Amino acid sequence: MNGEQMEFGFMKEEHQAQVAAKQKLIEANTPRVELIHFTGKDTPDETWAAANLLIFTKSTRLNLSPGLFDEIRNWPEEKKLEELEYMANTLPSSWEFIDYVFLVTGVSRAYTHQQVRTRTGSYAQQAMRIVDASDFKYVYTKRDLEHDDRRAIIDKCVGKIREIYTELLSMGHLAEDARGILPTNVATNIVCKFNMRAFVDLAKKRLGGRSQNEYREVMTQMVSAVLAVHPWMEKFIYGDAGRDYFTDIETFAEEQFGDDLATKAKLLKIVHKMRKEGK
Ligand SMILES: Cc1cc2nc3c(=O)[nH]c(=O)nc-3n(C[C@H](O)[C@H](O)[C@H](O)COP(=O)(O)OP(=O)(O)OC[C@H]3O[C@@H](n4cnc5c(N)ncnc54)[C@H](O)[C@@H]3O)c2cc1C
Repeated sequence: MNGEQMEFGFMKEEHQAQVAAKQKLIEANTPRVELIHFTGKDTPDETWAAANLLIFTKSTRLNLSPGLFDEIRNWPEEKKLEELEYMANTLPSSWEFIDYVFLVTGVSRAYTHQQVRTRTGSYAQQAMRIVDASDFKYVYTKRDLEHDDRRAIIDKCVGKIREIYTELLSMGHLAEDARGILPTNVATNIVCKFNMRAFVDLAKKRLGGRSQNEYREVMTQMVSAVLAVHPWMEKFIYGDAGRDYFTDIETFAEEQFGDDLATKAKLLKIVHKMRKEGK
């Protein structure tokens, strides 16, 4: 191998190492969502147990007796799907009988602050009042990860915050007071519970390009987790349009107006309305 080849080989290795490091950074800053509980989990028929209950609670026109529940359980799948399709387009009150519980980890407090605005959900979040958070992790946004120079400035700021936070604790300041200087994107974990009505409403609001990237990623993972166990939920979340119906226009909006949030929002407001109506 001559000198030129050796240099090329070295540059290639260096480039591969940089790509691998970047990939690791992206993975470390991607939220993780786990569906830890749902109506029907650990029953013999996890796919249909919740659907059976849903159909039963909607069947107020019929005799709401325990016998009817058994009858519905034995319906063929086609009949259940037909009933569910009807239910996806009518009064949503019976949807409240079905629950989903998620564990969301490696997210920023910026996301959890938005999440808990949905008052129909129940939440349990990692505390920062008592715990020493001096080894806190900072969650980079998708755009932070695209710019090494901007990330370097963020790192400088985060390093200074960590230094001062640690100094405050060493002076005897309580964690509940010192936490005030921590960044909005400090990493946290949260458990969220939604009934199906609240979940469908939330998905329609937060799956689209108007949502902040991190929230949208969490929502996308939540929906995927739900569809993996309850595929019949697709009709409730996406209506007749289907999952990928708005992908092209949302990708276009991001490509054209990614950095111009006001113009992007104007275009995506229309998409948001259509998604809500299941068009
Ligand atoms: C794209 C987007 C941008 C946003 N930007 C901002 C922003 O700039 N600033 C900001 O502050 N927020 C913002 N939000 C948050 C928004 O204002 C809501 O707080 C959030 O979406 C939760 O509202 P919700 O109606 O989904 O849920 P909830 O407020 O929890 O309501 C859920 C349902 O319960 C009912 N409900 C709940 N509590 C009550 C009550 N006390 N009285 C009557 N009815 C009740 C509501 O009618 C609703 O049907 C934004 C949201 C989105 C999706």
